[in-house]
Amino acid sequence: GCPGRLPELKGNIRVLCRPRPETPSSLVSVEPGPGGTVTTCYRGRHRRFRLDWVFPPDASQEEVFRELEPAVLSCLRGYSVCIFTYGQTGTGKTYSMEGPPEDPGIAPRALQSLFREMGAGGQHRVTLSMVEIYNEAVRDLLAPGPPERLAVRQGPEGQGSIQVAGLTHWDVPNLETLHQMLRLGRSNRATAATAMNQHSSRSHALVTLTLRAASPPRAPGTTGTLHLVDLAGSERARKAGAAGPPRGDPDGARRLREAQTINRSLLALGGVMAALRAHRPHVPFRDSQLTRLLQPALGPGTTAVLLLQISTRPEDLGETVCSLKFAERVG
Ligand code: ADP
Ligand code: MG
Repeated sequence: GCPGRLPELKGNIRVLCRPRPETPSSLVSVEPGPGGTVTTCYRGRHRRFRLDWVFPPDASQEEVFRELEPAVLSCLRGYSVCIFTYGQTGTGKTYSMEGPPEDPGIAPRALQSLFREMGAGGQHRVTLSMVEIYNEAVRDLLAPGPPERLAVRQGPEGQGSIQVAGLTHWDVPNLETLHQMLRLGRSNRATAATAMNQHSSRSHALVTLTLRAASPPRAPGTTGTLHLVDLAGSERARKAGAAGPPRGDPDGARRLREAQTINRSLLALGGVMAALRAHRPHVPFRDSQLTRLLQPALGPGTTAVLLLQISTRPEDLGETVCSLKFAERVG
């Protein structure tokens, strides 16, 4: 490969960090590159965090995707890859994952790259599903009717396999259809969010692409999977959680519950990743719907990439340190 590029990612967890582009502050300094660092000065204490890759704050969408492309393309050879965006609300998770139409992010670029690589030969059958997890309820964002709560069960292959009862899987013959479906899923997410008086920062959104090799030279039945996960804002976990519902706030109880479930699922994700990294015999997949759903995608031989989005603004410092600590635990 090219010098300085991430090696092909297999069987491990990589943590990449993308700082939001803003005026740098003396409290968060960034040293970009492979093995780059982020140094924070919080409450008078300096800490240096090393990550697998740190992007410069002005990194382009293309630059970010370039580091992820080898992992994305490995799905065509039957690998399972999971890409997460993690961080405080407003740090650019959705910007990185989806991006504005004029400057597309990881998801549209990944789809384009996969379809380009597959060519027009029809060697793969591509299927798509899209779910949202809100308050531990899993909903199908591509269901024809109103999104209903779906049950997550153990699949027919036993331990580690997962079945979401009633989840729709759509055949995607070409890139244009795929983009249309992604748009549909996104607008369904927004509609559901409004109906439930919530905001997308309170839910996890998962896009799953399955690529089945359909003809030689690849062995039939070789299936690769790509999960693109835009996680709920990590700050919810702490803020509302600690204080309890404020008195006289009719929304307080709901917000507290949201905070607790987000807290639980992000903690569970961290716990699973840390256990996998340490090769612990017990990996607590069952601690949240998020980790239950992703269990097949996070087991041995899979690749996970955590794109840690951080703010360098002084007022976000506490959250930035928390995010970096999360990365330190899992990476
Ligand atoms: P999150 O999903 O983490 O809550 P968003 O992706 O919605 O955050 O980003 C918050 C705001 O910051 C948006 O207006 C987004 O366009 C902008 N933004 C985030 N990252 C970048 C970036 N790298 N370049 C330009 N704008 C960005
Ligand atoms: Mg977002």
